[in-house]
Amino acid sequence: MTTNTPNNPHTIVIKVGGGEGIDPTNLTSEISELVRSGVRVVLVHGGSHETNVLAEALGRPTQTITSPGGHQSRRTDRATLEIFEMVYCGKVNKAVVESLRAVGVDAIGLSGIDAGIWTGSRKSAIRALDEEGRTFIVRDDLSGRVESVDADFLNSIMSMGRTPVLTPPAITPDGIAINVDADRAAAATAAALGADELLLLSNVPGLLLDHTDAGSLIESVTLEGLEIAREAAKGRMKNKVLAAEEALTSGVNRVVIGSAGGEQPIARARAGRGTVFTQSTTQAVNA
Ligand code: ADP
Repeated sequence: MTTNTPNNPHTIVIKVGGGEGIDPTNLTSEISELVRSGVRVVLVHGGSHETNVLAEALGRPTQTITSPGGHQSRRTDRATLEIFEMVYCGKVNKAVVESLRAVGVDAIGLSGIDAGIWTGSRKSAIRALDEEGRTFIVRDDLSGRVESVDADFLNSIMSMGRTPVLTPPAITPDGIAINVDADRAAAATAAALGADELLLLSNVPGLLLDHTDAGSLIESVTLEGLEIAREAAKGRMKNKVLAAEEALTSGVNRVVIGSAGGEQPIARARAGRGTVFTQSTTQAVNA
């Protein structure tokens, strides 16, 4: 099902985060220009902040699981998954589609469940740390990761001139919805489509050497230099670095972690403002 189609027209996968202060509709006019110029765009979005707000209002505040390696994820039981879907597949996805359609982009909003676009496995057990740093096992979590992307389906939509707007959850082969990390899902999508670029736009200017110092931006990272990037990334940034690595090793030429805010965030990221991940140094310089 996962086919690599490198002869496609220029394809960009853009993932916009769902952190506080990020408005995915800030990307609307730039996406419209790209699509009009013949670039195929797949937009992937999150919705974490809005989900936290709704979960709190519904009396089911978000619980975060921290793995022994420091990766953070949302504890996803069935009720949490339902709230997650209300925000990701409902409020945010439809707002993004509405805003793109308002500027003439033939956007179609789909979750990874729909048509089984993102298929993956559920984690049977998650090792997590409690507040005292002791390890415990979570067994009933509805989370996992994307293992297969239906590139043929996405290409068929795009060859009709339509722009897919994708969001978690994904689905297991036996039909169970799973919460997946949207950065890594975007990386798998870029790889499956043979995309030239993956942009991971968030509420930070890029990967910071010291996450508390906005002036410590790491401008470029190559595959050989990934260790420094891995060490710098804390908490949820770890998934972005992992996503960048997964995209590069699957053949995507260039990944940029950049800001989703301000004027022309897409053009700025494409021009190298942010952290540019490439296979080798020459590529980073020539980009
Ligand atoms: P989004 O929801 O937009 O995908 P996340 O909240 O998942 O973004 O990840 C971005 C966050 O990662 C930042 O807001 C920041 O708090 C955190 N972070 C941790 N380490 C770093 C780092 N080294 N550089 C930049 N941000 C970092």
